[in-house]
Amino acid sequence: MQPEETKGMITMMYDVLVIGSNMMELTTEIDRMPQLGETVAAPNFHMAFGGKGANQAVAAAKLGAKVAMISKVGADSLGQAYLAHFKQTGIDISGVSVGTQSNGVAPCFIHGNMNSIIVVQGANSELTPASLDDYHALIKNAKLIVLQQEIDLATNYRAIDLAEQYGVPVLLNPAPANDDLDLAHVTKCEFYAPNETELGRLTKRPVETLAEITTAAKDLVTQGVKNVIVTIGARGALWVTKDQELLIPSYQVPAIDSIGAGDSFIGAFAYYYTHGEDIPTALHHANAYAAVTVTRKGSQISYPTAAELPALQA
Ligand code: ATP
Repeated sequence: MQPEETKGMITMMYDVLVIGSNMMELTTEIDRMPQLGETVAAPNFHMAFGGKGANQAVAAAKLGAKVAMISKVGADSLGQAYLAHFKQTGIDISGVSVGTQSNGVAPCFIHGNMNSIIVVQGANSELTPASLDDYHALIKNAKLIVLQQEIDLATNYRAIDLAEQYGVPVLLNPAPANDDLDLAHVTKCEFYAPNETELGRLTKRPVETLAEITTAAKDLVTQGVKNVIVTIGARGALWVTKDQELLIPSYQVPAIDSIGAGDSFIGAFAYYYTHGEDIPTALHHANAYAAVTVTRKGSQISYPTAAELPALQA
């Protein structure tokens, strides 16, 4: 780890800087949804740490990456709980500040195999482009910056511009899909890593079959995107550049819950890539990491540490 002198402060190098959301998942198992104006009893409730940005940061940290996060927690007990959770996971929170609103929350109602989710952005909406100006030292001292789309697009654009200024590569995971995403900013990123649905939304192309997904990814490469990495669930991950296309198949595992699998894949790829692996090897290992998470319930709670990874990593 190389300490670097910045304005009299010691700033460390980070493997991964995640700029993005944190959300508290509020999950209620229900027998049925109440009508408007009605109250019903429900059999079970639990709370868990989630949000795409935080999920990706936690996956990378659990593997052993030095991770910093730029995020806004809420001015409430959930925000305090999230701060403590980041610290406990070993994530640097010098870029995490307390907003004025409540913490971001995702009330989720589960009935059998079906779920209904509400997302309340809360303090995440206060992560504005201007707020990034407090964190130039974190941005320029990262090996890789990871972005998702649970914060405002304008903040991501500012992050991409600052990363370009400091010569730091960016991985953009465009989830959830946003039709306003500007291709000019996507082309500044080293990696654009959607799932097939998000790829379809940006390219306006069909993305059912592998051939269609490959064509859509190639379309982006033709328009200047350097590395397109498409996660395609149990089919694995597809990597397309101007020189080649490569499908890295997923591991066959008894999957029970794919919630947060995409985030675990991105966080794991960030870890392996910043630890010197070439792109196909890092993708192969990210597939293996995500495969473990789908055999367990929940998002962050399903993410293994490096020590828990089975031999499937070989
Ligand atoms: P989410 O939004 O639920 O996190 P996503 O659509 O972004 O998911 P997926 O493409 O479904 O992400 O999955 C991400 C990665 O997880 C895949 O590329 C693969 O490595 C792994 N994965 C997902 N489902 C399975 C499965 N059934 N078996 C093995 N690996 C899986």
